[in-house]
Amino acid sequence: MKAAQQFASDNNAGICPQAWSILAEANQGHASAYGDDWWTKQAIDRIRGLFEADCEVFFVFNGTAGNALALASLCRPYDAVVCHRLAHIETDECSAPAFFSGGTKLLPGDGADGKLTPAIVEEIVGRRNDVHFPRVRVLSLTQATEAGTIYQPDELLELTARARHHGLFVHLDGARLANAVSTLGCSPRELTVDCGVDVLCFGGTKNGMAVGDAVIFFDRRLADGFARRCKQAGQLASKMRFLAAPWIAMLDDGSWLTHARHANDCAARLEARLQTLPGATILFPRQANTLFVGMADHHLQALKERGWRFYIFPEAGGARFMCSWDTDIAMVDRFADDIEAILTGQDGR
Ligand SMILES: *Cc1c(COP(=O)(O)O)cnc(C)c1O
Repeated sequence: MKAAQQFASDNNAGICPQAWSILAEANQGHASAYGDDWWTKQAIDRIRGLFEADCEVFFVFNGTAGNALALASLCRPYDAVVCHRLAHIETDECSAPAFFSGGTKLLPGDGADGKLTPAIVEEIVGRRNDVHFPRVRVLSLTQATEAGTIYQPDELLELTARARHHGLFVHLDGARLANAVSTLGCSPRELTVDCGVDVLCFGGTKNGMAVGDAVIFFDRRLADGFARRCKQAGQLASKMRFLAAPWIAMLDDGSWLTHARHANDCAARLEARLQTLPGATILFPRQANTLFVGMADHHLQALKERGWRFYIFPEAGGARFMCSWDTDIAMVDRFADDIEAILTGQDGR
């Protein structure tokens, strides 16, 4: 059964053609297991090339594992991580960072538009410095943020300088890094290594792969023991070539970026339609593929009754409309038409 396109999540989209077709290619004959194969080595090389850095690269099944295991490798059980209150690690990972690190606490801050500021980091770091409270060890940022906004490189630099000043490592949740790269038009390196990021979780799944995110250690020493950490957590794929091969296809032909650009463009198109409508409030500046919109409950209900699927985030104050690599522009227009009909009282009911 073919279900209609929706605006619930970029994870509702399928596998992009590039990722799909290279799986068939990688499916020829035998290859060594657990990452000791040609495809995995090639994929790691491509990622090093993309970031222009001699980094350590690991492939895990999903972003939650990537984040939690990366944070666990930076923290002792009595440490803490500064993050935003809307951060995926705080709201959507079922305490996986605490679980895999053996107790690390998250210290959420509450900045505007889903972003932390140097002042917030200072406030959290300065709260306590006694044995009864965890030691702050990591600053975790998300790019693009969970609110669909983006940190400019100078904002990142200021934040990571604060982190350095206090001896914190910097973790970047880049589940939608491609969308941020597309918006900012800078190189992946400029947004990560050059901004002082130590460990990056780079999302492949939301960008069109079936499964698999990359954990990238720019500071190679921090990767010590990470392979075993993955294995222990059940995150070492035995048939690793099928996690790795899609990276080769999507980095080689640039589709990691064109997919992200397309998703961003679709969200921009939707935003342009909703901006002028009475009864719809754009909640955060739309800078990537996510649009948060405040609408009356009965209007959101009416939209759901028309068959549209999307999530409501009370903690963000509205509905989230998410575009993906395969979003059909005609669907964006139909969605906007329905919202307009509901908000202007012309929905015929
Ligand atoms: C989707 C997402 C992840 C990863 O989620 P998984 O479901 O574990 O793959 C991580 N961070 C952010 C910001 C996300 O949106």
